[in-house]
Amino acid sequence: MIKLNILLATTNEGKVQEIKELFKNYRVKDIDFITLKDLPKVDEPIEDGKTFFENAYIKATYYYNIFKIPTITDDSGLLVKALKNEPGVNTARYACENGEKPNSVKNYNKLLNNLKGVKERQACFKTSMLFYDGKIFISSEGKMYGTIAEEPRGNNGFGYDPVFIVPKYNKTVGELTEEEKNKISHRSKAVKSLVQKLKVYF
Ligand code: IMP
Repeated sequence: MIKLNILLATTNEGKVQEIKELFKNYRVKDIDFITLKDLPKVDEPIEDGKTFFENAYIKATYYYNIFKIPTITDDSGLLVKALKNEPGVNTARYACENGEKPNSVKNYNKLLNNLKGVKERQACFKTSMLFYDGKIFISSEGKMYGTIAEEPRGNNGFGYDPVFIVPKYNKTVGELTEEEKNKISHRSKAVKSLVQKLKVYF
């Protein structure tokens, strides 16, 4: 059977494992996944899209045009209803000032401050994923709905997990196990949906 190379255009090992695992479960076909760590280092593209999809598109076309390998990219973030869907595409750098490095605790503290006294705390994590092989684009998305807590709880996960309450469990994502999170997360839903579509493509 011919093996297909796919570039997972990320250096995040957690994401790479999650995507590989899902592809295995869905028995797509023989794929060799490559990540940016396996390729010569290149500059990162400027992610200045107005939506998660646009950022996934910027990354997919950028890396495909350099390496000419079918590429999968993703972009995620948090949308908070009372803040008119902020932080949105600024989720990773919400509390960054003067080009400082992203910091999760600072980010969620800024969010909690901005929601002080606000009763309507609905929010949604969203992931956009995109496959591009130089001709065809295949996209997917996944969402996880919840509310923003009054204060952080739990040490699991990353980013905004300690302040995002999942109604089904009445716990923050920071209090869920990795397995529980992976069943319901925006990212896993987007991966599953992309895998289903890629099955047709293959
Ligand atoms: P990325 O596009 O997947 O790198 O996500 C951008 C930012 O969104 C991250 O730096 C996190 O702050 C936040 N984020 C994305 N997914 C999650 C999640 O599953 N839990 C908590 N924060 C997340």
